[in-house]
Amino acid sequence: MRYTRLAAVASAVVLAASLTACGNSEKTVDQQASTGTDNAGALIGVTMPTRSSERWIGDGDNLKKQLEGLGYKVDLQYAEDDIPTQVNQLDNQITKGAKLLIIASIDGTAITTQLQSAKDNKIPVIAYDRLIRNSPNVDYYATFDNFKVGVQQATSLLTGLKVLNADGSKGTAKGPFNVELFAGSPDDNNATFFYNGAMSVLKPYLDDGTIKVPSKQTEFKTIAILRWQAKTAQDRMENLLTSTYRSGLKVQGVLSPYDGLSIGILSALKSNGYGTAGQPYPIVTGQDAELASVKSIIANEQYSTIYKDTRELAKTTVGMADAVLKGQKPTTNNEKDYDNGVKVVPAMLLESVIVDKTNYEKTLVDTGYYKKSDLG
Ligand code: BGC
Repeated sequence: MRYTRLAAVASAVVLAASLTACGNSEKTVDQQASTGTDNAGALIGVTMPTRSSERWIGDGDNLKKQLEGLGYKVDLQYAEDDIPTQVNQLDNQITKGAKLLIIASIDGTAITTQLQSAKDNKIPVIAYDRLIRNSPNVDYYATFDNFKVGVQQATSLLTGLKVLNADGSKGTAKGPFNVELFAGSPDDNNATFFYNGAMSVLKPYLDDGTIKVPSKQTEFKTIAILRWQAKTAQDRMENLLTSTYRSGLKVQGVLSPYDGLSIGILSALKSNGYGTAGQPYPIVTGQDAELASVKSIIANEQYSTIYKDTRELAKTTVGMADAVLKGQKPTTNNEKDYDNGVKVVPAMLLESVIVDKTNYEKTLVDTGYYKKSDLG
C-alpha cells in the first residue's frame, strides 16, 4: 500500500512536470481554485445519498470531523435517496459560496446542471465513492477498487460453497449448486463494477455447470435493485422462491452486493422455511460490514460481507480536498478505469477486505471499526 502510494505520488509529480514542460495552457483545477491561504476556513459542501444505510452516516461524520479538523467549514447534507432533494442541496451549497464540493451521488447522471454551475463558479468537484457520470466537471474521484469488491463477493460465495478453499485453491465441493444473483442500483456506476467483477469470477463455474441459476436471471438489468432498496430485494427473493423454487428445489447461494439487500433476502428466505437445522440458509454475501449484517454473520445467517474502511475513504478525500484548495495536485493511483462517459476521472482507489465469521474480530474489532460490545 505504502509502495503504491509512493509510486502514485511519484507519477503525479512526473505528470505535473510533463504538463508544465508541454506548456499546457489549459488551467488545471489546482490553478482554478484560489491558492495558499485564500481558502483557509472555506466552506465545503458535502452531499451524501441517504441516512437509511449506516455506512453513509459514518462517511458523512468522518468527512465533517476531518475537514473541520483542518479548519474548513462544512455543509453536510443527506437526500434520503431523492434526486430532486440532492439537486437542491447542491444548488444551495453553490449559492452559499462553497469553495469545493464532495458528492456521493444518488443517480450519477442527474446532476450535470449543478456541476456546470460549479464549473462556472470555479468550484472543484470530488466524486465520493460513486462516480458522477456524463459530465466533464468532475475533477477527482475517491473510492474503493469496485471491480475488486465484486471479485471478492463472488470469491467468498465460492468459498462458502466450498468450491474454493479460503486460500483460493480448488475446494472439495463439485456442485452443481443453485445460486441466485442480485445486483445494485442501475443508476449507481459502482453497481456495474461490482457485477462485472463478480461475473468475472463466476463465469467459468456457470459455464462448466458447477453453478446453476435456476431462475435463469443473470443479466444485470434483470437482477438490479433500484436504489439498493432492501424491500425490493426481499420481494424479488420471495418471487424467486415461489416461482422457481416451488417444487422443493433449494437455493444454496445468493450473490448479494450490499448488506441491506442481504438482510431483505434473508428475511424472504426465513419466511419460506430456511434457517433451520434441516434447511440451513444458503451462502449469502454482502458489502459494507454494517452492524446488523456483522451480527447476522456471527449468528450463522449471512455468510460474508466486504469491509470498506470508510474512515480511510474520508481521510483520502479530505487529503484531496485540502490539496486542491491549496492549489496542489492530489495523489491518485488510477488514471484509466473510471471513464465517466466524457472523461477519465483521476481516481484514488482503496482496498477492501472479505469478512466472514473467521476474521471479523481481526478486521473489524482489532482495527477499532467496531467495539466488541457493539457486536454482542
Ligand atoms: C457503495 C456501497 C454501498 C451501496 C449501497 C455503493 O455505491 O459503494 O458501499 O453498499 O452503494 O449504499
